[in-house]
Amino acid sequence: MFDTAETFYRDCLVLPAERAVTLCGKLDDVKAMTNAGKQPVVTSQRAYVMMSHSRWIVTCPFVDPKMGRSCGGAQCASITDPRFFCLTCHNAAINGAFVMVEWPDEAMRAEIEAILTPVEDITCRNWWPYESIAELREQAARWIEMHKALSVVNYPRSKRKK
Ligand SMILES: [Zn+2]
Repeated sequence: MFDTAETFYRDCLVLPAERAVTLCGKLDDVKAMTNAGKQPVVTSQRAYVMMSHSRWIVTCPFVDPKMGRSCGGAQCASITDPRFFCLTCHNAAINGAFVMVEWPDEAMRAEIEAILTPVEDITCRNWWPYESIAELREQAARWIEMHKALSVVNYPRSKRKK
């Protein structure tokens, strides 16, 4: 129900954290770019996982020096292979090494998913690492109420008058 790299990028022949890279090149290019699982990993920095539209995604932690702002790259996060290689900046800030990915702990992940499961509109299933569980619960309740209100207004197409 909540996608990760393991469920979102299927039928891939590379490690889960390297699967997003297959979207932008041939398998040999990907293996060269990510050094087929042998790329160094920088552990002094972290990329953080968030929920976006019912997917656990990891956002790029680096600043693009040309633009002077956050790179903005993002991809589905791997739960079994918590490394990140950005498709936008290629982790140039750390010479193309992978960066470690920080997930919320298992109990918090389960709580976030439990709170967001009743939210029918998947575009409203979002959580930011700085959001508390109480804030998320409040936001989810508002989305559920709003969805109920909209369901009353939007009749099924077959019952509409021409
Ligand atoms: Zn980036």
